[in-house]
Amino acid sequence: MEMKSPFKKVKILFLSLLIAFSLEPVFCNSIKDASQSAIVYTISMENPNNHYFHISMVYSGIKDEETELKMPVWTPGYYMIMDYPKNVLNFRVTDASGKDLPWKKTEKNKWKINTAGIRTINVSYDVYAFRVSVADSFLDDGRGFISPTGIYMYPAGHKDHPVTVSIKPYEKFREVSTGLDPVPGKEYTYYAPDFDVLYDCPILAGNQEILKFESGGIPYTIAAENLGSLDRTELINDFRRIVETATSIVGEIPYRHYTFIMMNNGMGGLEHTNSMAVFTNRLNSESGRIGNGWLSFIAHEFFHLYNVKTIRPIDLGPFDYDKENYTTMLWFSEGVTSYYENLILNRAGFFTREDVMKEMTSSISAYENIPGHHFQSVAASSFDSWMFFLNRSENTANTTISYYDKGCALGMLLDLRIRYESGSKKSLDDVMRTLYTTYYKGKKRGFTDKEFRDVCEKTAGASLSEIFDSYIPTTAEIDYKKYLGYAGLSIDTDPVETDGYWIGAEVRQNGDDLVITRVEWDSPAWKAGLSAQDIITEIDGRKASQNLFKEVLEKYIPGNKIFFKTNHRDIINENGITPVKKLTRSFAIRPSSGITPVQEAVLNSWLK
Ligand SMILES: [Zn+2]
Repeated sequence: MEMKSPFKKVKILFLSLLIAFSLEPVFCNSIKDASQSAIVYTISMENPNNHYFHISMVYSGIKDEETELKMPVWTPGYYMIMDYPKNVLNFRVTDASGKDLPWKKTEKNKWKINTAGIRTINVSYDVYAFRVSVADSFLDDGRGFISPTGIYMYPAGHKDHPVTVSIKPYEKFREVSTGLDPVPGKEYTYYAPDFDVLYDCPILAGNQEILKFESGGIPYTIAAENLGSLDRTELINDFRRIVETATSIVGEIPYRHYTFIMMNNGMGGLEHTNSMAVFTNRLNSESGRIGNGWLSFIAHEFFHLYNVKTIRPIDLGPFDYDKENYTTMLWFSEGVTSYYENLILNRAGFFTREDVMKEMTSSISAYENIPGHHFQSVAASSFDSWMFFLNRSENTANTTISYYDKGCALGMLLDLRIRYESGSKKSLDDVMRTLYTTYYKGKKRGFTDKEFRDVCEKTAGASLSEIFDSYIPTTAEIDYKKYLGYAGLSIDTDPVETDGYWIGAEVRQNGDDLVITRVEWDSPAWKAGLSAQDIITEIDGRKASQNLFKEVLEKYIPGNKIFFKTNHRDIINENGITPVKKLTRSFAIRPSSGITPVQEAVLNSWLK
């Protein structure tokens, strides 16, 4: 396979590294930094059940009078402020002779050291690591997970400095897995050309099982903590199908090796350019095969190597690690990645057409059937992710939507519209390829909102004003029927009454108390003034319980009221509430009869 630039350049750089390495111990000096400075990190974990990684950094060849070391406060892909410096303990700096140097904290994530006349500093600190998440480091005697942004500090102004990292695994750990390039001949030692790459490469130390396969001459590593009774050969075949289908969409592979880090007992996944860190619990199935739900998840994180890592909004890189990096386009970077999950599974033969339609129905109904869709556009949902990401409250569904769900639906709308307008000659795939070629490879930057729209409209050969001026920036009703009609599909958007009666309050039994956990906007409970955290003490004069709450709604006779006595922060209220039948829309997508040749062409070009 011919490797195109910049891939070739990277390869040449790596070769020269190998040569440099054989001549000089601290090989990265001579490559990128003419000043002969070097940054070498060593990470050890002697007492893992204390949950502290010990970090030591040797920074030599310093020329600055003052050195400010900064630790990121967030991790790309995980759009919330994490304040990693809160985990740092025992920060210490010495000069080459071991003499302590004074330092001062100037901001929550900055340590300033006077380095006038000093060429080398030894920095050491401990990082507490005991939160199970793809964006947090974790250490015990079963796992050492290094989430890099919360571990390494970089010298301000030198984010592009090369780094070597040496891992000293806990004595009972046998494996170290990462997307970083290994330094040849040095066990557990790795190289990053700059801090952006270092921060994009988590490391898993432990006793994970290692499976390897190759595709197109590129090596892939699956590093998994618990594959249970899964058939390993089938698993590799399934992963290979995902990899080959996903990479064929753009047609070029921007990495030389890829590592799947799969941990157990946790939630979520985080994408990186040549690795992913995911929690994959309960992978076992009776068939010995990984389920399609997990494969979708893997396809999502994998496709991010294109959508968000290389094909990216201009606001998402180079990153400012000190604060929020705002973008209105997470609906595209995340939601359209979710849309591609479905396409990849369909094209790889895991999903039927009907499976894709079901997935799309589920995404659409997830945001259309919550009140938040009246209040928050998908652009606003993207922009404000920093406040809402994984930060849900009793009011979240009333006021916000998920850019994953609506972005997934908008991806389908865009794709169908482009296919229709271009006579099934073009698709969203062409948009992805153009963005990759023009911005990632050509201009070596992300794209603006306008540039993105221009590429979509040029590909369609038509104005996409309805999507870009209405569906993305506003909460306007979406004409799903029109867009699905391009492929001869129908969608059920009629409001339907649910079977049972409903007041719009959700409750939880907490010991003796029946507590309201959320109240839906504009529901009977909302209008009556019931509130989250209220304790319902009596229902129709009887002691309240979860069973009674359920029973009175099941036995409700229309025309009556149900009386709720509540304790609201020691204020006793009694409300008579008239339950209603809730209206929801199914958004079921189905083939329709009497499909035209044009519609058939769109459908056949879209799904296998
Ligand atoms: Zn994602």
